[in-house]
Parts: sequence; structure tokens; C-alpha cells
Amino acid sequence: MTITFSPDRLWDSLHEMARIGARPDGEVDRLALTETDGKARMLLRDWAQSAGCTLEVDRLGSMFLTYPGADATLPAVAVGSHLDTVPTGGKYDGAYGVLIGLEVVRALHNAGRRTRAPICVVNWTNEEGARFAPPMAASEAAMGFADEARLLATPDRFGQTSFGAALDACGWRGTRDPAEARRFAAYFEAHIEQGPVLEREDVPVGIVTHGYGVTYCTITVQGRDGHIGGSMEDRRDALLGAAEVILALERIALGTAGRGLASATRLALEPDARGNIPSRVVLVASLRNIEQAGLDGMCAALAATCAEIAARRDMPITIETVSGYPSVRFDAVLLERLRAGARAAGLAYRDLPTPIGHDALHVGRVVPSAMMFIPCHGGLSHNPAESIAPAWSAAGLAALGPAVIETAGGLA
Ligand SMILES: [Zn+2]
Repeated sequence: MTITFSPDRLWDSLHEMARIGARPDGEVDRLALTETDGKARMLLRDWAQSAGCTLEVDRLGSMFLTYPGADATLPAVAVGSHLDTVPTGGKYDGAYGVLIGLEVVRALHNAGRRTRAPICVVNWTNEEGARFAPPMAASEAAMGFADEARLLATPDRFGQTSFGAALDACGWRGTRDPAEARRFAAYFEAHIEQGPVLEREDVPVGIVTHGYGVTYCTITVQGRDGHIGGSMEDRRDALLGAAEVILALERIALGTAGRGLASATRLALEPDARGNIPSRVVLVASLRNIEQAGLDGMCAALAATCAEIAARRDMPITIETVSGYPSVRFDAVLLERLRAGARAAGLAYRDLPTPIGHDALHVGRVVPSAMMFIPCHGGLSHNPAESIAPAWSAAGLAALGPAVIETAGGLA
């Protein structure tokens, strides 16, 4: 007997979930640990409990919905992603990866079957980082790469509350030790591609072989305050130094033959006044590269360039790394199971890396993990127009469902 997954039930659940936080223009606003996020969590809990799962919530609010296996001593195989969105989010970013896991356990439950190992559907808290920076912090802390107490104290973007207080306010501070997630036997994360490759090539299943290494840094250029009517010779205009740094970021990325990406994304000027030479400029930059060695090389090039600009312009420039994660290679055996699932379903597939962060990039540093992409129209995400075809959703389920069951030891 094989398990029959229901693409229609997955599709319907995606759209029912998307009604929580829906706005008239189609966008979904489900910021982490808000009342709407709480409603989405309750819906997931109710669905999963109806499918025979038990719920545990960890101290960071991440949800673990476990469908029992025949052998309770075996570590669970996890499938998950996130239900939170950015303020102008779409229906599928994150929700697809959680609800595809739910569909796997629903199918097992309906058939009255179990796998040997338990299957755990995971909803990671605050993946987007849109309310509490940085993104993916709950999975990062669970895997031991970020400090739990520091995360709980993180202020929200409005400066009104903290991660910990928001957890209490929406009633989702649990007691499970986040570190328990390190004991998963395996972790699968399905996600919309958020890029154009799969749709352009008419390939419904993307096998994500690895994730880019990413570094976020704060670069501070220290010039000297002065009147804009002062002489040009004496100026230490920090904005000019920052402008050179921004252009250097582009040059460094373009010098990687397509393997690296870099941009400055935020800029703060002091004194930020019409009549003053900016004396201090703080910019936030992101560098990413398909390989860790490449990322290290980009960071070294940035440091050397900043030192050169600082010396030439006589203005100190400091670089502080604030967050990031290394390039992660996903597990070859799990990836091959996803390919086998696609092949068995007669689906085209291709390998590709992810330049975008996902919880799997932290989980994959500790637990054997694999990611799978399905296409999205126009590569659009974080946008009300984010959309997928029902056939793509179904294709992902056809590839991932059997891979999860096989990884959980098959049907008992
Ligand atoms: Zn996402």
C-alpha cells in the first residue's frame, strides 16, 4: 500500500491559511507574534491535532507538531518552514513549507498508517525578521548559533515591545528546550523559489543543493563635522567615503563572475542636517557568495578597500559583522530522495542553490537537511502579487511526500 497525498487539500489549506492577515489587495500581513500570527498558529495547531499530531512549543515560540511513528525511540524527521510574513507578504512564502508537511501527516492519518520514525511539522518563529531582526533567529538559536536570552530581549521594529514580551502577549511562549530540534534525524524545507529560474525553464521541482554564505555588516565612516560653506580642501566628508564604499561593494560583487552579490541597504547620516558636512555615516551592507571561500574573499576585499579609502581620505572606517551564516551544503542522500520522488512522478527537476536565507540554512549546519523549491510566477515574493500554479504545488508534494516517508523509515 502506498500513501495518497492530496494536492487539492494542500491547495485549499494554503488559501484558507492565507485568509488570516489578508488585505483587500491580496497581500498577507502576518508579522511574527502579532494577533494574526497567533490565529495562524491556532489554525495550524487545530489542523495538525485533527491529523493525530501532538503539539510542543519551545521557549522561542516555534511549533513542533509530531505525528507518532511506530518506534517512539527514533528521532523525528522534520518538515517545516514559517507562517509569519513580511508586512506586504504573499500567500505562499513559508506557508507552503509548513502546510506541505501537514499534508504528509494528514495523508498518513487518513490511511491509518505510520512511518517507523515520527514525523514533525515545524513552524519556526519569526523567520522573516520583519518584526524582530535578524531573520531566522529562532532556528539559529535552536541550533546553538545565537543566544536565546539575547533573542528574547530583541526589540521589535517599532521599539514598543521585545521578542519575549510579544511571545507572552500572544500566548506562544512554550517550555520545550529549543535545542531539542538538534536531535531531528533529518529536516526538509519546501519553499517557493523567489527567483525566476524554475518558471523560465518550465521545471516544477528545484533541488536546492546548497545555500549561499551571507554576511551582514555595519560600516561606520567617521569624518569631521563642518559648515558646507567651508573650503573643499579641509573637508572630511563622511558621505563621500561612504559613497566610495557603496561603489566598492558593487565592484567586489561584479568581480566574482556571478558567484557573489553585495549591496548597501541602509544609510544613516549624522548630523543629517542641510547645512552640515556629514561627519559620520553608518551603512548596512550585505554580502553573499555561492561558496564560503568566495564570501571570505569578498569580505577581505571589502576590508582592504575600506582601509585604502580611510587612509586616502584620512577618515577612520570600521566594519562590524552583525549577523550572517556560512554557506551550507545540503545532505546528498536526502537530496537524492527528492530527485527520486520527482522522477517517480514523471516531473522535471534541476539542481540550484539558494541565495536567499531560510531556516534550513541554520538547521542544515547541525541536522542532515534538504531544501526543495517550486516555481513562483515572475520570481515574485514579499509582494501581494506572489503566486504559484496549482500544478507546481502538486509537483512539490509529489516529490517531497515520498522522500519524507522513506527518510522516516518507510511505512511500518
Ligand atoms: Zn520564506
